[in-house]
Amino acid sequence: MARVAIIGGGPAGLMAAEQMTAVDGLKVAVFDAMPSFGRKFLMAGKGGMNITHSEPMPAFVGRYGTRQTVIAPLLEAFGPQQLREWIGGLGIATFVGSSGRVFPSEMKAAPLLRAWLHRLRGAGVQFHVHHRWLGWAADGALRFATPAGEKLLAFDAVILALGGGSWARLGSDGAWVPVLAERDIPLAPLQPANCGFDVAWSAHFSERFAGQPVKPVVASVAGRRQQGEFNITAGGIEGGLVYALSAPLRDALATEGRAVLHLDLAPGRTLARLAADLAHPRGRDSLANHLRRRAGIEGVKAGLVRELLPPETLTAAAQLAAAIKHLPLPVTAARPIDEAISTAGGVAFEALDERLMLRALPGVFCAGEMLDWEAPTGGYLLTACFATGRAAGLGACAWLAQKS
Ligand SMILES: Cc1cc2nc3c(=O)[nH]c(=O)nc-3n(C[C@H](O)[C@H](O)[C@H](O)COP(=O)(O)OP(=O)(O)OC[C@H]3O[C@@H](n4cnc5c(N)ncnc54)[C@H](O)[C@@H]3O)c2cc1C
Repeated sequence: MARVAIIGGGPAGLMAAEQMTAVDGLKVAVFDAMPSFGRKFLMAGKGGMNITHSEPMPAFVGRYGTRQTVIAPLLEAFGPQQLREWIGGLGIATFVGSSGRVFPSEMKAAPLLRAWLHRLRGAGVQFHVHHRWLGWAADGALRFATPAGEKLLAFDAVILALGGGSWARLGSDGAWVPVLAERDIPLAPLQPANCGFDVAWSAHFSERFAGQPVKPVVASVAGRRQQGEFNITAGGIEGGLVYALSAPLRDALATEGRAVLHLDLAPGRTLARLAADLAHPRGRDSLANHLRRRAGIEGVKAGLVRELLPPETLTAAAQLAAAIKHLPLPVTAARPIDEAISTAGGVAFEALDERLMLRALPGVFCAGEMLDWEAPTGGYLLTACFATGRAAGLGACAWLAQKS
């Protein structure tokens, strides 16, 4: 009987395990360093689990940016629709929210994970918690740190689904990077993705507006433009719209040493209309009243205008209108990787064959967020984790069948 180890019990690893339950003659064991499985998956379910997206496939695939060509065939085989059907098979309905995002009923991850683990156990998959993978022993056995000391275990195939490098307290700490680097596996450095940024707010602005949402607003950077909302933090910005544009901001910081997010604080008005509105004589009105009454700019938006523009622009209607439509917000650094929703970088696709097997280590497959792709929030992260987990699981089955 062939033995398969799956290391990492997140969505990618569990989906890999699922592929093997249909194959006779395989003994499948899932190992995780943590005391339980799917901790990040459960965390993703806390604020409403957005598991995939209902937009048409070309747009969906486009979310994976430069990696879309390698991800597309995996999504064709197991994309949003198949994922929804699969969730349905666990007895959990899904629904499409107003933004096109797809959620499991009750928006929670826990019932789904519970049903899934139950089904996998029933199908004979063995689960081992408190098993931290350390690498390989000289004879090729896997090394695990366990509460009972180090264990050496030999397998015929291994699937690594170790996650990225954010929210280390949930298990995915990126400690696998040096282990694979030592084996000369091509890796792109792990970087924060879907992350917040630092901004050098004045003490006054930070105290007054930290925690407040800015909405509706259109933000743009490096030719990308998106409407949405974000939040002011004590030392910067975070939230959906910032996460969506975090890759170009992060990359600009890395290559140019600076990055500026441009905000349109009045997305409902054209520049000409806004300029005309602001050109009305102010009379004895304060600037705050004038902005509110004439342009609908108030609260945190008015705070941003004052914070980011020189005083002379505030009193020149045409310039003020132009600035409100294209307000430069310089960011100084990405927040640390551990705070990010996900990570970019990881095992390079060039290191893998089409079955997601490491070319340099036959019999070792990789899946999930540890691969070098990134995507915005909106269900794209989990969908690709499931799709790559499935591909690696099927790849390992095919490889074992070929070998025997
Ligand atoms: C707050 C938050 C909210 C999110 N919300 C969403 C969302 O709504 N929609 C969405 O699509 N995505 C969301 N994500 C992202 C999504 O949860 C991840 O992309 C996904 O969980 C990654 O799956 P994975 O299986 O690749 O890795 P993980 O889920 O990180 O699982 C990896 C597993 O490997 C284990 N492991 C790591 N190293 C070792 C080792 N050396 N030995 C043994 N075990 C090890 C870890 O303990 C972990 O259990 C969110 C993430 C966060 C942090």
